Amino acid sequence: MMVVMTPQATEAEIAAVVEKLEARGVHAKVMPGELTTAIGAIGDPEGVREMGLEGMPGVDQVIPISRPYKLASSELSHYEPTTFEVDGRRVGGGQTFCLIAGPCTVETREQTLAVADAVSKGNASMMRGGAFKPRTSPFAFQGLGLDAFEILKEAREATGLPIVTELTDVANAEALAEVADVIQVGARNMQNYRLLEMVGKLGKPVLLKRGLSSTVDELLQAADYILKEGNDELMLCERGIRTFETATRFTLDLAGVAYLKLHTHLPVIVDPSHAAGDRRLVEPLSRAAAAIGADGIIVEVAEDPEAALCDGPQQLYARDFGRFSQAVAAHAALLDKRLA
Ligand code: PEP
Ligand code: MN
Repeated sequence: MMVVMTPQATEAEIAAVVEKLEARGVHAKVMPGELTTAIGAIGDPEGVREMGLEGMPGVDQVIPISRPYKLASSELSHYEPTTFEVDGRRVGGGQTFCLIAGPCTVETREQTLAVADAVSKGNASMMRGGAFKPRTSPFAFQGLGLDAFEILKEAREATGLPIVTELTDVANAEALAEVADVIQVGARNMQNYRLLEMVGKLGKPVLLKRGLSSTVDELLQAADYILKEGNDELMLCERGIRTFETATRFTLDLAGVAYLKLHTHLPVIVDPSHAAGDRRLVEPLSRAAAAIGADGIIVEVAEDPEAALCDGPQQLYARDFGRFSQAVAAHAALLDKRLA
C-alpha cells in the first residue's frame, strides 16, 4: 500500500502515520517528493487497508499496489496456467478449446436428447442444460428442478458428453453434484459467497460466471472464495456486463477476457449467447472469443428456439451447429488449439 500525504502535511503528521504502521509490524518507507510525501507500507495489505489511515490528519489517499485477488492471480501464487480434465476433455493449458453447448433449459426429455445428439455430432466438448433457472421474474418458467436430473443423466449416457448445469441454492448441492460433471455458478450468484464456498468443497470442476455488474477484479476475488476451499478445477466465464449500451442484451467484455488471460492462471470461457441475446451475433462473437485467446465458449442451442420457454432468440438452431462448430474450430486453430 502507498499512503500519499497532502501537500500541507506536517512532519508530525507524517511521523504519526509511520508510528501507526510500525506499531502493527508494517515496515514504513518515507519517500519525500517535491510537493507531497508518500509512505510505502510494506506488509500485509489487508491489515493496512483496515487500519483506517485515510482518516488520519494529513493523509490524502491510501492506494493499493498489489492486486486484491490472491489465489486466482498469476502474479502472486501461480505462474503456470491451470489445466484439468473433465471426463477426458482438457480445459485450459493452451492446446485445447472447450466448446460447451446445449439448451438454455431442460424442458422435456425429447427436446434435451435431440439437442444433445446435435451438439455431440457437431463435436461439442461438453453439454450444458439448466435445471434450476435464475429468472428475473418469479412468474417466468423456473426450470424443472430436480426432475431435470434424470433427463441430463440420460443425455450423458446417450452422448458421452460431460454435463454442465447450474447450482442456485446450497440446499441442492449434493444432489446436483451427483449429476453435474461441471457445476455452474450463474452471474446472479457470483457474489453469493456461501454458495461459492460450498461449490469449493464439492470436489467437482466449477464454471463461475461474471456478475452482470461486477468488475473483472471482483470476479477474481469471487474465484478466491472457491480456490481457498482447495478446489482449483475452476473456469471463469465472461458473459457480458451492463453498460449504457442497449443494442445488445449485455456488452461482451472481450478486453476483460484478454485482461483475465494476463492476470489469472485460470481457464477463461466466453458466453456469447447471454451477452448478445441474438443468435445472429453468436457466431462472430464466438470466433472473436477463440481468436482473442479464450479457453472455450458456452453457447445455447435449440431444435426449435421459437418454442423455447427461455432465451429463444439467442439459441442457435441445432441444424446449424455442425457448421458453427467448424467455424469456431478454425479460429481456435489460429492459436494452435483444437476442440477438446
Ligand atoms: C445460463 O447460463 O443459463 C444463465 C442463466 O446465464 P447467466 O447466469 O450468465 O445469466
Ligand atoms: Mn439462457
